[in-house]
Amino acid sequence: LTFLGIESSCDDSAAAVVRLGEGGAEILSSIVEGQVALHADFGGVVPEIAARAHAERLDGCVERALAEAGLTLAEVDGIAVTSGPGLIGGVLSGVMLAKGLAAGSGKPLVGVNHLAGHALTPRLTDGLAFPYLMLLVSGGHCQFLIAHDVDRFERLGGTIDDAPGEAFDKTAKLLGLAQPGGPVVEREAALGDAGRFRFPRPLLDREGCDMSFSGLKTALLRARDALVAEKGGITVQDRRDLCAGFQAAVAAVLAEKTRRALAVYLDHSPAEPALAVAGGVAANGAIRAGLETVCAAAGVRFLAPPLRLCTDNAAMIAWAGIERYRAGIGDEGDLVARPRWPLDALAAPMIGSGK
Ligand code: ATP
Ligand code: FE
Repeated sequence: LTFLGIESSCDDSAAAVVRLGEGGAEILSSIVEGQVALHADFGGVVPEIAARAHAERLDGCVERALAEAGLTLAEVDGIAVTSGPGLIGGVLSGVMLAKGLAAGSGKPLVGVNHLAGHALTPRLTDGLAFPYLMLLVSGGHCQFLIAHDVDRFERLGGTIDDAPGEAFDKTAKLLGLAQPGGPVVEREAALGDAGRFRFPRPLLDREGCDMSFSGLKTALLRARDALVAEKGGITVQDRRDLCAGFQAAVAAVLAEKTRRALAVYLDHSPAEPALAVAGGVAANGAIRAGLETVCAAAGVRFLAPPLRLCTDNAAMIAWAGIERYRAGIGDEGDLVARPRWPLDALAAPMIGSGK
């Protein structure tokens, strides 16, 4: 079973070809064209610019993905496209293109929830069995999900304000560091003293798996301003210590909330207990180490797919398409683009599947 996948819900235009054969799943190609440079001057993703860039680039991404896979459209078994959630202009670009390709080739078309794409990735990379626990932690998302089945995800909790990636990016900005902030802050933190500034660990006193990261940014801003007021500026070492303190706080919150999410998950008596991460923040070594420790203590396997599959890509969309197609859940003619589409509402509103 071979699927073409198309992704355009945020600021990456992507296309990929994935095959499920007897030996398991194989990524035949995965093209990702980022737009960091296009949005750099605006301090964030500009929806109109993103939509236009997707419209201009997606065709080429698809051509390259097929060429690298050594296949023509006639040789794939189906097409999967991200139909939400995300910036509606970009999602529409992908959906329109996919509909055109499907109509022209007569291939089945499957609409995929972007978050489900992330959440199903550990099955693409490691053939993980349901149910497993998923921590999605990126620039736009932060949530715990139990993946029970291809289209059944149970949300245990998540951030009530900023996502951790966003907090890393804002921290970098406050300290005059480059974007995206995550890798830079991690590098600075490695040279800093995490014990010098004690930042808050929000919501740890509250039960459940919800998190909050916006207060951290305020605390960091206050610490920075106090240093500036005291001596007129911050030194290189101050900056490293601030980064280290910030990162330690994020890692501690994620580790503790993961411990609680694992307890809820283990109540389901999974046969092969596992925690998988997705999202760019999962690249962070300190955060990963915290999660690994918690998993080891709970006797749960910890799994982090390679970073290029943790961040936005189309291989995960092609794979989710294969999974849905195999399960008999398809989107036929009237697939629609959705700006909002919570994962735990996935099973209910599949439009056009008739199944
Ligand atoms: P989403 O896909 O959820 O809409 P996104 O596209 O912003 O959001 P990703 O591409 O998965 O998310 O990840 C990007 C985020 O990951 C950025 O906020 C970036 O700062 C963060 N990040 C990347 N590397 C690291 C790191 N080493 N430590 C912490 N954060 C990191
Ligand atoms: Fe994403």
